Amino acid sequence: MFQKENGWKTVDDALKEKIFAFSEGYKQYLDAGKTERLACAEALRLAKEQGFTNLEGKESLACGDKVYFVNRDKNLFLAVIGEEEVEKGISFVISHIDSPRMDVKANPVYSDGGLTLLKTHYYGGIKKYQWTAVPLAIHGVVVKVDGERVQISVGDEPGDPVLYISDLLIHLATDQMQKKATEVVTGEALNVLAGSLPEKESEKDAEKEALLALLHEKYGITEEDFLSAELEIVPAYPAKDVGFDRSLVGAYGHDDRVCAYTSLQALFDLNQPKKTAVCLLTDKEEIGSMGNTGMRSAFFEYAVALLIEKTVGSYNELKLKRTFRNSCCLSSDVNAGYDPTYPEVMDKMNAAFMGRGVVLTKYTGSRGKSGSSDASAEFMGKIRRCFDTHGVMWQSAELGKVDCGGGGTIAQYVANLDMEVVDCGVPLLSMHAPYEVASKLDIYMAYKAYCAFYEA
Ligand code: MN
Ligand code: MN
Repeated sequence: MFQKENGWKTVDDALKEKIFAFSEGYKQYLDAGKTERLACAEALRLAKEQGFTNLEGKESLACGDKVYFVNRDKNLFLAVIGEEEVEKGISFVISHIDSPRMDVKANPVYSDGGLTLLKTHYYGGIKKYQWTAVPLAIHGVVVKVDGERVQISVGDEPGDPVLYISDLLIHLATDQMQKKATEVVTGEALNVLAGSLPEKESEKDAEKEALLALLHEKYGITEEDFLSAELEIVPAYPAKDVGFDRSLVGAYGHDDRVCAYTSLQALFDLNQPKKTAVCLLTDKEEIGSMGNTGMRSAFFEYAVALLIEKTVGSYNELKLKRTFRNSCCLSSDVNAGYDPTYPEVMDKMNAAFMGRGVVLTKYTGSRGKSGSSDASAEFMGKIRRCFDTHGVMWQSAELGKVDCGGGGTIAQYVANLDMEVVDCGVPLLSMHAPYEVASKLDIYMAYKAYCAFYEA
């Protein structure tokens, strides 16, 4: 008989202390990195502290070298060079650092009824109604026409104002309350309240003029500069412990910074590995891994090609292909945790439970595994053995009931490169909501799983 239980039952005081301590660092990482750019910058800062140096600046690489490669400020590729030749295969752990949110439109500013607002376009799959009437922050960059890059971050520092999206008052919501949940709040209703003071001399759009004047004074930007900006609207609250016993963590962006942080720490704590170990933080997963910072970008192959060239002094396509063919990857992404309030979407025999450890997801997809990579039995066996011998608490799950919906990860794009790959991450409650929940035990076990994988 095979049955898994609540993992906390076997956790002694010493381990509990380690698990709780680990989540403190994780919460700090979450608060420092609410966008892909900020999450990349914070990870880079941590990597430099650990002695990682710039891959592009190095003539050659030797066993034990620790290097980083930053792609367009949105991806971080970290490698620890192994004893074996790179061509013998790399151990990859790949997560994503983009999360669902709202992006400020290119022509965003308008005023109406004495208020100034910013129009947005949501990014990734969200229940739009969840993002109204909560405190919001803005983070991002504006690139001026002369090339100067201006950073904007408001809403997350103590004493900062926040931004806000209004919702219709219940008293007048008779019609709204009859609508389907997908239509209760439409995409074009996600307008961000950004001010209300008018320019006193102005006759038309006095509030808009005042906001633009304020932004010009503070950041030196004009209305036209929004055309070359990436400004992201995210929840303004910090990560916090959840529950009387503090056993869970609530935060924006667990998906997928929980796997990013745990894989980073696993790489940092790795002693000289046999195989070269790579931790990659990627972008654009939430919109299909497109673009030059997504997992489908040739950037990934370029970074691996650099490792080959700088370790053996030469490069050819066959070496790159052989490297991928000999490599293994944990596509480290979150899964759905069993929610006792919504049991109807889960097959309890194949669901992930909070506090039972990191989740191996053999396949994802929808409508009969469509869009899934589906890891081989052989590779699943290898990873099971690896986790069991290293004392990792882990569980196996699908993403909900068959035909209840579904989803995909970067695993399929990794598999296309001829690698072994399986999804492995942390179960969450309320995935893609402004505030998601993860178990501290599962977070720690993801870290242990990635440590075990790199060491194997
Ligand atoms: Mn994800
Ligand atoms: Mn997601």
